[in-house]
Amino acid sequence: MKSSLLIVATALMFGVAACSNSRNQQPSSPSGGVSNAVSGPFTDQELQAFAALNPIDTHAHVFHSDPAFNAMLQKLNLRILDIVLVDDNNPELKDLSAESKAAWQFVHGSGGHAILCTSIDPYKMHERGFAQASIRGIDREFSQGAIAVKIWKNIGMEIKDAAGNYILPDDPAFAPIYKDISAHGKTLVAHVADPNSMFDPPNPDAPDYGYIQEHPFWYQYGKPHPASKEKILQARDHLLELNPGLRVVGAHLGSMESDFHQLAQHLERYPNFAVDLAARMPYLMMQPRADMIAFILKYQDRLIYATDNEFTAKDSAQPSINDWEETYAHDWRFFATNDTLDYKGRPVQGLALPEPVLRKLYHDNAAHWFPGIAPPTH
Ligand SMILES: [Zn+2]
Repeated sequence: MKSSLLIVATALMFGVAACSNSRNQQPSSPSGGVSNAVSGPFTDQELQAFAALNPIDTHAHVFHSDPAFNAMLQKLNLRILDIVLVDDNNPELKDLSAESKAAWQFVHGSGGHAILCTSIDPYKMHERGFAQASIRGIDREFSQGAIAVKIWKNIGMEIKDAAGNYILPDDPAFAPIYKDISAHGKTLVAHVADPNSMFDPPNPDAPDYGYIQEHPFWYQYGKPHPASKEKILQARDHLLELNPGLRVVGAHLGSMESDFHQLAQHLERYPNFAVDLAARMPYLMMQPRADMIAFILKYQDRLIYATDNEFTAKDSAQPSINDWEETYAHDWRFFATNDTLDYKGRPVQGLALPEPVLRKLYHDNAAHWFPGIAPPTH
């Protein structure tokens, strides 16, 4: 789920007075923000350029149906991958079948703007027949149109074996499930581990600092038996090696958000691996601009645009719609324009990527790594 990002809050701070066809440029900011930072919702011109790419967001969590929300997807010409997951710390996400039902209801009512990524319930992994039951479940979801399966960070950071060791993503219990996903030609979305800042001493400057405050359960630093990020990522790599025919999309930059060199090495080493950008935009924004442009150009076929945006029963529609739209507008300006943006009071200049690369980030790579996500183009 979402690592608390402040870009939306920042955008909202400056964007309240923006109107739909003139972008909001602040001549100066009373709160110490960046002067002339562009924020607020899409201008008409920006929206046109964004919508023309048939954009896809491959990482969102929608478990609620609302006509105004669907209208927003239509306005943006946006398609989303609606990802289900089981989280026993969250009463809303404890029950896979109830959550799937709400997700399917949304997908079916979305007018073709959403498609489903199902999941397994790894908390049941010690039960007899776990793999077979999981396979029956995901095969049923495939037959209804699901195109991917997610595994989540509870594998690696929460669930333990009888000896008290954390279960890892390459645990043999999951092997038949990976084989099944591969045999069906579907994609595995792997959100394993967390940003480095969840393992390190508290750093108020880290993009994920707010997430720690809201979700202290996942904060490993100072725990008597912390999970090991290194071991989790090694197990993920082992999974990639064991399943060369399985397409794996590493959520959140494959949890290598703090080391683009390490990420590059992985993309070189594992041809069956790509990453989504969900909830990690600040890490891209904090890189030197020329380095980031070079990285994206080099790996333009392996990076998939995504947000980790959420819309659930507890959210009221209009504020969520505003948040979603502002996230897409902000991210778009970073990739597509030269505009100056504000990230936590720091100026960030947009990358102004060439149109063919934007098309890959926002559409083609999703279509390639998630077969079935986009209608075939002629
Ligand atoms: Zn997520």
